[in-house]
Amino acid sequence: MKFTLSIAAVALASIVSTAFAAPDSAHFTYGTDDAGPQHWGDLSPLWAKCKTGQQQSPIDVKAEKPSVKFVKDPIKYKYAPVTNAVIGYNGHAVQVDWTQPANEAAASWIEVAGKKYKLVQFHFHTPSEHRVSNRFSEGELHLVHRADDGTLAVVGLFLELRITNNNWFNWITDLDRKIDRLAPGSDTTKTKLPIKKLDLPALAKAAKGFANRWTYAGSLTTPPCTEGVAWNVVKAPISFGLKQFNALVDLEGFNSRYIMDRPGK
Ligand SMILES: [Zn+2]
Repeated sequence: MKFTLSIAAVALASIVSTAFAAPDSAHFTYGTDDAGPQHWGDLSPLWAKCKTGQQQSPIDVKAEKPSVKFVKDPIKYKYAPVTNAVIGYNGHAVQVDWTQPANEAAASWIEVAGKKYKLVQFHFHTPSEHRVSNRFSEGELHLVHRADDGTLAVVGLFLELRITNNNWFNWITDLDRKIDRLAPGSDTTKTKLPIKKLDLPALAKAAKGFANRWTYAGSLTTPPCTEGVAWNVVKAPISFGLKQFNALVDLEGFNSRYIMDRPGK
């Protein structure tokens, strides 16, 4: 937890500044402070859904809700390799971004209920946000897809801890090492690391083509908590190395919203 001090400083500054800050500059945390998950809906008028929404995420996908369906078929998808990706810590999560290929045929997408959504980024949560019969996983990877009309479909993959690293995620330890070398007080959110090649087809294959998944209509799990998100939470976890997990937690700490499908939320 090499960030504890700088994060605390940033969090303190954000609490002071969020009270009357412009909505687009509002900050949030995962702590028990005034910017924590239970207050997100009060931090900005644009974030009201975090408080008033009726389809909020995450949830326990096995909590016997009629709105959640288990689907055995794989998602119809096409994932293509990406060569211009960057990884960084955005202040809330470790996220991988890239420029969409101009060539439509080189795009990565999924099709949900007959609608095509392009993959725009993915990021991590530790521990997992969704639960299965009240059980967490060590982490959860969110593949965020956007349709032409702006609506979102997210694929959630649980991370299962193994002793040996999953080479697919080696850039996480590289980022952790790079940030570790920065002078104290450096803005770690500005540090980006290029990823030579992101083999998205291999990731989809490891996730068994996203077959056997819980689907439901939910929301973004971070402000503005926008609803109408088509969730696909895949049952089979993907493996994640212990070293990689420790690097990930070094970088983002605890960043999991509490579940939204319990009375008294
Ligand atoms: Zn997420």
